[in-house]
This record gives sequence, C-alpha cells and structure tokens, in this order.
Amino acid sequence: MSQKRSLKVAIVGAGMSGLCMAAKLQDAGIDSFTIYEQADEVGGTWRDNTYPGLSCDVPSRFYSYSFRPNPDWSKFMSPGPEIHAYFRQVADERGIRRHIRFGTEVRSARYEDGQWLVTTAAGEESFDVLVTATGVLRVPRYPDIPGLETFAGPKFHSSRWDHSVSLPDKRIGLIGTGSTGVQITAELGGKVRELKIFQRTPQWVFPTPNLRYSRLTKAMLARWPVLNKVGYRFWQAYIENASLGRATVEAGWQRRWLSAMCRWNLRLSVRDRELRRRLTPDYRAMCKRQVLAGHYYQAIQRPGVCLVSEAIDHVQPAGVVTDGVLHELDVLVLATGFDAHAYVHPIELVGENGLTLDEAWADGPHAYRSVAVPGFPNLFMLMGPHSPVGNQSLVIIAENQADYAMWWINEMRAGRVASAAPTEAATKDYNESMKAAMPQTIWVTGCKSWYLGKDGLPELFPWRPVRHRELLRTPETSHFDVRTA
Ligand code: NAP
Repeated sequence: MSQKRSLKVAIVGAGMSGLCMAAKLQDAGIDSFTIYEQADEVGGTWRDNTYPGLSCDVPSRFYSYSFRPNPDWSKFMSPGPEIHAYFRQVADERGIRRHIRFGTEVRSARYEDGQWLVTTAAGEESFDVLVTATGVLRVPRYPDIPGLETFAGPKFHSSRWDHSVSLPDKRIGLIGTGSTGVQITAELGGKVRELKIFQRTPQWVFPTPNLRYSRLTKAMLARWPVLNKVGYRFWQAYIENASLGRATVEAGWQRRWLSAMCRWNLRLSVRDRELRRRLTPDYRAMCKRQVLAGHYYQAIQRPGVCLVSEAIDHVQPAGVVTDGVLHELDVLVLATGFDAHAYVHPIELVGENGLTLDEAWADGPHAYRSVAVPGFPNLFMLMGPHSPVGNQSLVIIAENQADYAMWWINEMRAGRVASAAPTEAATKDYNESMKAAMPQTIWVTGCKSWYLGKDGLPELFPWRPVRHRELLRTPETSHFDVRTA
C-alpha cells in the first residue's frame, strides 16, 4: 500500500459548514486539522440568532447532516435552540471540539511557497489546505436611519438579541419584515403590551403550518433509522422538484402554484381590505427570499399589534417618527438583515503573487462552481459566491462542497497533486454561463433583495439544486492549474 502524505488543513468557522468539513476529514482518516472559531461555541448562525420565534423554515428531517440523522426533532421545522443543540451534539459525539481554537479570530491568510499561512493574534501557522466556512448571513446590517443612535431605550439587532430586556410589559418597535421579522412577529404578536411593525416592503408569505412530531413518530424514527432516510429523501425531492428549488429558477406549474398559494394565504387570512392592501407586495412571489410562516397574518391582527407601512423618517429618543407621527416605544428591534456579500471579510486573503481576494473580486464576488478561486491554490470555500443558498437546506450544499474539497485533498494525500486552483478561463466560462441563465430566474423580476450583487444580478445559483451536485460530483481537472510535487 502506498504511503499517504500527511496534510494539515485549516478550517475557518465552526458553524454548520465547518463542522461538516471536519466530519468529512475525520471520515477520510485525517486528524491533522484545526478549526479557527472567533466565538466561544460552535453553531454559527444558530449560536448567534436567539430571537423569540426562531426556527428553521426548511423541514428538519432534511435540514440535518445526511450522515447524522436526528430522530428527536420536535417539530416539522424545529426551533432554533434545538438546531443549535444538534450541532453542539455532533461536535461532541465526533470529538471535533479538541480541534477547535475558540475565541480565535483569523486576521489574514496568505499563500506562500505552497502553504497557507494563517495569522491570528497568537501568531502564524502553516497549512497545506485552507477551507473557509464563514457562513452566509454572519455580519448584521444596521439601517441607516437618521437619529437611530439617539433612541433612549434598549435597541438591538435581531441576531444580537438582548435577553436581559423583559418584553411582556413593553412597547416594542420592530423594523423589518424579512424571514426574521416575520418569525418575531408570529411569536411576540399579542404577547407584549404593544408591537409596532415597521414595514418598508411587504412580503409574500407561503403558508407553512409547523406540526409537532408525536412521541410515537419519534420512537419509530429511532427504532428504524431507515425512516429518517426516507423522510430526508422525500423532503429533498419535494423542495428540489416540486417546490422552491425549481420554482425560483424555472417557469412552470411549481412557480404558478407557489405564487397562487401566497395570494390565497393573504386573501383568506386578512379580511380587512385596507390591511390586505398594505400587506400586498407589488412584485412577484419568490423574487425576494420567500418567507414561509404559519401564523404571521394572524399575529398581525392580534390585539396590541400594529402594522406601520408609512416610511420611517427618523428616530428620536422616545420612538420612531413616520410622516409626522411619533410612535412611542420602549424597545427597538432591528430585524434589518445581514451583509450577504461579506463572505470571508474582514479576513484578508492573499493568494499567489500577492493577489488579494478584494482585488480578485473587484468586479464582485465570483468563484469556480461556488468553491474555488483562480490564483488561490488549495483554497476551498463553503457557501462561496453563487452557492444555491436561497430557500434550500444549506446542509446538503455544505456536504457537496466539502466532498468536492475532499476529492482534491485525497489527491494531495496520495501525492498526485501538490496544489490546485481553477483556471481563469474555466472560471470565466462558468460565470458567463451563470449570467446567461439569470434571466430565467424569479430573482430578477423586479424587487430589491439581499440576493442581488452590486451588478444587480443575483449572487445565487441559477439552476436546479441537482445541477450543483452534478457540477461538484467529479472535478474536471482540465479546469485547474494542477501542480505536482
Ligand atoms: P432580510 O430578509 O434582509 O430583511 C430585512 C428587512 O429589514 C426587510 O424587510 C427590509 O426592508 C428591512 N429594512 C432594512 N433596512 C431598512 C431600513 N433602513 N428601513 C426600514 N426597513 C429596513 O433579513 P432577515 O429577515 O434577517 O432575513 C435574512 C435571511 O436570513 C433570510 O432571507 C433567510 O435566508 C435567513 N433566515 C432564515 C430563517 C430560517 O428560518 N431558515 C429565519 C430567518 C432568517 P426591504 O424589504 O424594503 O429591504
């Protein structure tokens, strides 16, 4: 048997993707990896987001690692704390924690003499391979509203929830009606003294009841693990073929059906014509990231809940002012989203010949098949540019991308490859074919959303999820500059 080369791998981030990469390395028998994590716990977005009402809006049976089914999910779409517990459990079960440097922020990573030199406050360490797993929606976006800083009461971003503030007796202002604002509304509506929802743009809402799994179902899933697999495959097939995975990128009955369901949901749930008018978007369903929720419209109509659809003029110490009206508030919640284009920022990545990632991406973030960047050998990105991150399970995407990285890592271990980076030509061809496919997607039909890059085109994968898997299944080595030892 040939001797395998020992490789050192650095992973940045111990969220869902970073843990996934770690598990894949372990499964291949590689123990020489280090995960850098700036926080003091694993879980990424599920650690940072703790707002009331937080849950996944992808069925949990499918929002799980394929290699670690979970028969214990409490609900069809499980609450955030349960999902965070799942990732903590995976880290514990697999002994991944001993590889993690908690509280360690990567400042820069530089490719020199065939090695990645990773710099943290503690110094520099070299690795053969660098995997970035820094997540998609990590950097909170604060709104640029005049006077916001003057607000006298507690004020926080939805992903930095201040749990020391008691809510039931408060008048709460909620800015933002994306997936987060909708979940907060559904949870808090009717349970606090007053909830004022400041809506800049209405959202289409796809009705999604969230049923609880019975004890019997959980017991059956634990007894016969194959049932988890069946559930996983069922929801995967449904989402990818009969629902959003297809409807967003192809015209067809799936698009018509989903749009009709959103329209009917609004019509049947909101009888008051004036309120319905204010809740009706002037763009097509799914153009923004589709909101899926069970009780949003009901919550908006509960006592003490008020939808404010007039534009915010400014904030003052006592509250939010819209067209001359002061809405007095005790607490202000900013559910105003994230910088979806941050990727690895603020880490400075420097590839071959001193090329920085900022320079390489001067015209906007782009990658080869979402995972690799020309001029940056042995760098693999999980959830890189144009990953299919819309209304999908990001877990299966991370697994596919990690498997792709593993293919190259195994070639390196076997000594057949010393370094590999995609060619400029292959990357350009790939990005041009994506650009050509964008007009068929629903994301370009006339709305503003975090999907759109600075060129106005979506930074999303414009084909069905199966195509992403196919593109990553077997690397086309002719698309790479491959160096041997
Ligand atoms: P978002 O979708 O970007 O929504 C931000 C909201 O804030 C929008 O309603 C936006 O209005 C509003 N806003 C921003 N700046 C404003 C300003 N200056 N004045 C007034 N309103 C302003 O952010 P998000 O709701 O946090 O969701 C982000 C993503 O996180 C989702 O799309 C989804 O991918 C993910 N997420 C997933 C789940 C899940 O269950 N899996 C749950 C929550 C979030 P405009 O629409 O006018 O821009």
